[in-house]
Amino acid sequence: MKIICIGRNYAEHAKEMNAPVPSEPILFLKPETALLQKNLPFYYPEFSKEIHHEVELVLKISKMGRHIEPMFANRYYDEIGIGIDFTARDIQMKCKEKGLPWEKAKAFDHSAPIGKFLPKSRFPLMDDIDFHLNINGKKVQHGNTKDLLFTFDNLIAYASTFFTLKKGDLIFTGTPVGVGPVEIGDWLEAYIGNEKLLAFEIK
Ligand code: ZN
Repeated sequence: MKIICIGRNYAEHAKEMNAPVPSEPILFLKPETALLQKNLPFYYPEFSKEIHHEVELVLKISKMGRHIEPMFANRYYDEIGIGIDFTARDIQMKCKEKGLPWEKAKAFDHSAPIGKFLPKSRFPLMDDIDFHLNINGKKVQHGNTKDLLFTFDNLIAYASTFFTLKKGDLIFTGTPVGVGPVEIGDWLEAYIGNEKLLAFEIK
């Protein structure tokens, strides 16, 4: 399986990164080895001194597809969950300065913790899904899909023009404003609505 991630899909987050709002989705990939599941702890990697949290809604692809039309895209995912797109911001900044690829900063081992998924039928309105991240009990990021620059359907359509989507693939749909560093000892909890779906420690 593969993990497709979307950069800068919320305007307020683009602003906090001093980056332009994109005119088409920004795509990057993480490998399967980036997954971290079952609320296992995240071990702070020694290659970075600035790991940032990016809480994101995650779509689980339910069947194979390529060149999917936006109007049919909702047939290609059946579950929605929440995850963290951990980013080694110090390394990413160096990569960006030099115009180099981001993978070292984005796709490293366990950079994609994911929680429990919910059936899509639980969400009557795809453009009004509320989610947030708490660190040590304090809310640090809050998002709502009404603020997405590119909708779930548009992301699936766009991504599938480059990558064949396969059952089990995940799409991280972008982070809202409020990204920031995590520290060893932090306790992270991610929610969709008021349902806690992911909880783990930074070690
Ligand atoms: Zn992200």
